[in-house]
Amino acid sequence: VRRQLIAGNWKMNGLRADGLDLARSLAAWLDADGTAVRDHVDMLVCPPATLVAPVADTIAGTSLGVGGQDCHAADKGAHTGDVSAWMLKDLGASHVIVGHSERRTDHHETDEQVRAKATAAMAAGLVPIICIGETESERDAGQALAVVSRQFNGSLPDGATGTNVVIAYEPVWAIGTGRTPTTEDVAEIHQRIRADARERMGATAEALLILYGGSVKPGNAAELMAIDDVDGALVGGASLKAADFQAIASAC
Ligand code: 13P
Repeated sequence: VRRQLIAGNWKMNGLRADGLDLARSLAAWLDADGTAVRDHVDMLVCPPATLVAPVADTIAGTSLGVGGQDCHAADKGAHTGDVSAWMLKDLGASHVIVGHSERRTDHHETDEQVRAKATAAMAAGLVPIICIGETESERDAGQALAVVSRQFNGSLPDGATGTNVVIAYEPVWAIGTGRTPTTEDVAEIHQRIRADARERMGATAEALLILYGGSVKPGNAAELMAIDDVDGALVGGASLKAADFQAIASAC
């Protein structure tokens, strides 16, 4: 049985006081609630880049982890405004989200660029959380499986194994909308990702964590997390409230 991962993507939310309060209360809860959640679930928060360092300092020594929301593909250099994987690692991050649909849309990131970022993350000793997922029009056109498969294969670095990367399936139309796919649709996509992973990674694909993301809430978490091949969640809005994020982790 795979350990589950519940990761919170704060997106562009949080000033220092609120972000540190949230991280502090999550860490305190996680360490007090040891047997119920900690034994089979890892919890991670991905604050905006401005808060990675103070959050890392605040949660040091606790069971809560911290990650970035994006990284550049280069280690360093003339890339104004960007942050490298090594910089995140240096602050204490363990993971970094790459290829989120908001970056694919806002910054026109391609599978090739996402793969380069994931490769950089692995080289720095971070676990990339590689996001893939179809748009609504792609689903309506019956292309969801094909799109997800293409993005998986295009975004996955050579050398990726079941333990050095995480995949997040996030249907674009389910992000921030309150809508979620049916459990059958989630199961179908996650099975496809697992099958594609077996082709690419061999036996280590059994250890790969495949997260679901898109309008995960306390009210639907248990149903989503019970699906075969769903190994946790990447949570946006509901990760900004400690009680909601804790309830989602407790539903694993
Ligand atoms: P919501 O949980 O707000 O739908 O966002 C999901 C997401 O994009 C996480 O990366």
